[in-house]
Amino acid sequence: MARLNEHEGKALFKIAKMPIPQGDVAKTPEEARKIAEKLGKPVVIKVQIWTGGRGKAGGVKFADTPEEAEKQAAALLGATIKGYLVEKVLVEEKLAIDREYYAGIVVNAQADARCPVFMVSTEGGMDIESVPGDKIAMMNIDVIRGFKIYDALNLANKVKVPSGHITQVARLLVGLYETFKNFGCRLIEINPMVVTKDGKVLASDCRISIDDSSAIRHPELGIEVARESGTPPTELDKIAWWVEEKDLRGTCYFAEMNNQIKGECFGTIGYHGMGGGGAMLGVDGLNKQSLRVPDFADTSGNPPASKVYRAAKLVFSQPGIDGYMLGGFMAANQEQWHHAHGVVKALREELPKYPGFPVMLLLAGNKEKESLEILREGTKDLNARIRIYGGERVYDTVGLAAEMKEMVLEYKKEQKKKG
Ligand code: GDP
Ligand code: MN
Repeated sequence: MARLNEHEGKALFKIAKMPIPQGDVAKTPEEARKIAEKLGKPVVIKVQIWTGGRGKAGGVKFADTPEEAEKQAAALLGATIKGYLVEKVLVEEKLAIDREYYAGIVVNAQADARCPVFMVSTEGGMDIESVPGDKIAMMNIDVIRGFKIYDALNLANKVKVPSGHITQVARLLVGLYETFKNFGCRLIEINPMVVTKDGKVLASDCRISIDDSSAIRHPELGIEVARESGTPPTELDKIAWWVEEKDLRGTCYFAEMNNQIKGECFGTIGYHGMGGGGAMLGVDGLNKQSLRVPDFADTSGNPPASKVYRAAKLVFSQPGIDGYMLGGFMAANQEQWHHAHGVVKALREELPKYPGFPVMLLLAGNKEKESLEILREGTKDLNARIRIYGGERVYDTVGLAAEMKEMVLEYKKEQKKKG
């Protein structure tokens, strides 16, 4: 999923003619002051980062004058909030809040549903996860039938939205569904939807995640990397997305992560998984041996050798790795020889740079025998610590991780001796 910042999401609300507070984005304190001057009233200044809960984390400030807005913006811009560097703030008119509602749509992936589910609650401003179930009205949406104004009125009615503004609320809900559908969202949320003291209903906040597959259909959203991640994309993440976008056969997933090991760390392993879930077991195994894994990579769904090769090159591009592991912790039904060819090509280019480098290759499943042969033949003349295993070790995350640790310790000792 690709997350949008609040102001980007609100731009989509505008397209659906949903009321939002007046305001604009500032990248400098001066810009913030100018926006506040133009608005000519008290403002709220909100950091534009990929996460909610900004209010509690000190990322939402208020200012009565343009000078104050400039000061507040100066304090926020360049700060790090919830691990994100603040590069932009949204300066908006401050609303006089009378009531707050929650409205959101997520994909309900349960087998008996598999559809978008609409949720509305009178407990706006809180995380929906912490709102009691009886305070939330829900509706599974039949995407062929759509979501009509009377569905919206029914939902609002269930949580007893007063008649004075129920029509405005219902219109916003319809707009929310339109936006969800038109942009291929996985999640869309207004929290809070605000009723002002003078009776207007506006979307005061906005959270949107776009489905990976629809990001490609919406170049106007300017999504650089259509991947969900806890952090903004790194240079390698961007290259990985380029690899994926250019060739949709199979999957090349690669994300750098800031993972640390508690206590002493014995080394860092560039990790190349095959098949997301099983691959994670391998990471777990390595972590338990106090080996750090700085990335998560996954090539699966029968990618061509070229894609596997590029994924392996990305893994090797990470600075400071002490080993490489191809973690095929499952019997895959993809033709594994594409993996074997891709990995061999990458190893033949990379390993001459690092004599004695620890390499663990685990691969099982379709065309296993031939694939293992390709790995053995293709690497036998390389000066490295290479161990190649097949299906017989596929459940042995603990043993393989322990072997990896041994190799890493040997390698590091050798490096030290060389100086
Ligand atoms: P979040 O914490 O990341 O969800 O950011 P929000 O945009 O939801 O803002 C957090 C909280 O700040 C809201 O729940 C409100 O209580 C408060 N807030 C935000 N905008 C306004 C505003 O225009 N007027 C007032 N009075 N409070 C606001
Ligand atoms: Mn919010």
